[in-house]
Amino acid sequence: MSKGGMAIGSHTHSHHVLSQLEPDRQYEELSESRAILKEQLGVAADVLAYPVGGRTSFTDQTQTLAREAGYRAAFSYYGGTNLPGKTSPYDVSRISISDQSWSRFRVQKAVCRFTGSYLP
Ligand SMILES: [Zn+2]
Repeated sequence: MSKGGMAIGSHTHSHHVLSQLEPDRQYEELSESRAILKEQLGVAADVLAYPVGGRTSFTDQTQTLAREAGYRAAFSYYGGTNLPGKTSPYDVSRISISDQSWSRFRVQKAVCRFTGSYLP
């Protein structure tokens, strides 16, 4: 996948909801998966997708720990819009594109570009 141009990111080591773990266990989850990806695939996983990715699945401290573990960015999964200057690189919003047509997604993306908000 890497040779084909795909970026490899981390989703933590064992998929625990990070906000439910003590800080040292969170850091382990964050750093262990990154180390394994480096060791076994030779890739530097610079980005992270939080397990579950909901608003309560990670905390401000989790974001700090992700930075300290070497990630450049982390993705949530509760939706929303990423606006320049207003989006933390450790809480980058994503949306699901399942259950909708490609053309609908393209229209929503275009609307978002002009209005600054994603309309589900
Ligand atoms: Zn997952």
